[in-house]
Amino acid sequence: MSTAILSALPEEQSSLVQQLAHPQRLMHAGRAFWRGELHDRPVVLALSGIGKVAAATTATALIEHFGVARIVFTGVAGGVGDGVHRGDVVVAQDYVQHDMDASPLFPRWELPGYARTRLACDPVLTAMLLEAASLCVTSASGLWGLKNIHGGAHRAHQGLVASGDRFVATAQESERLRSALRAAGHDVLAVEMEGAAVAQVCHDYGLPFAAVRTISDRADDAAHGDFAQFVQTVASRYAEHMVLSFLQKL
Ligand code: SAH
Repeated sequence: MSTAILSALPEEQSSLVQQLAHPQRLMHAGRAFWRGELHDRPVVLALSGIGKVAAATTATALIEHFGVARIVFTGVAGGVGDGVHRGDVVVAQDYVQHDMDASPLFPRWELPGYARTRLACDPVLTAMLLEAASLCVTSASGLWGLKNIHGGAHRAHQGLVASGDRFVATAQESERLRSALRAAGHDVLAVEMEGAAVAQVCHDYGLPFAAVRTISDRADDAAHGDFAQFVQTVASRYAEHMVLSFLQKL
C-alpha cells in the first residue's frame, strides 16, 4: 500500500515529482495527485492546500479515493519555542488547534467530541522522520553551508505543533498564543496552518500520520519576508532530503 507525501507548498513538491518513477497525474476533488514510486516505494504526492479545511479535504481524498496506508506531511512553519531558529526542523509529536475555542461549553482548545485537546502522531513513523530530519540538518551545514543566526548548526526538535487558520506575523500575536497555551500546559514549538487538521482526519480513520516542519520564520514582525525568502531557497531542498531518507527507512 502506498505512502502519501503531503506537501504544503508547490516549491516543496516539485523536486519529488521530478524524481517520481512511472508518474501518473490524476485530478480529484479539484486537486492534482501524483502516483508513482520513489526509491521503489509506491507513493501518492499531493498538495495540502493552505489552511485546515483544504488540508482535511486533501487528507480525506488520499484515504478514501487513493487508499493510502499512511500520511507524511512536510511543510514550513513559524518557530515559537525557545531555541527554535529559522532553518531548524520540528518533527511533530502531537498537534493542537490554537484557534479551537468552544468555551464555555468545552475547555478552551478541547476538540468537541474527542474529549482531548492534543492529537498524537504515530510514534513509529515519527521516530523514523526524526532520524531523517536529524540527518538532514547535519548535512545542511556541510552540503549547503547553512548555519543558524548564532553561527551554529541547525537542530531537529520534537514536540507540540499548533495549527490554525492564521498566518502568525507579529511578535505580539506569537507571544500571546504561545503564553496562553503554555499556561494550560501546552508548550508549543511551532505554528502553522494545516497539520492538526490532517492529524484529526487520520485519527478518525485510524491511519498512521507523521509531520515535519522546517522553520521558515519566527512568526514575528519579519515573518512575511523571511517566509518568502526561505521557501524559495531552503525549504524545497530540506523536504526532498527528508522525504527520500525517510522512505528508505520504511
Ligand atoms: N504560499 C502562499 C501562502 C503561504 S501561507 C503565499 O506566499 O502566497 C503560509 C504557509 O506556511 C502555510 O502552509 C503555513 O502552514 C506555513 N507557515 C509558515 N510560517 C507560518 C506562520 N508564521 N504562521 C502560520 N503559518 C505559517
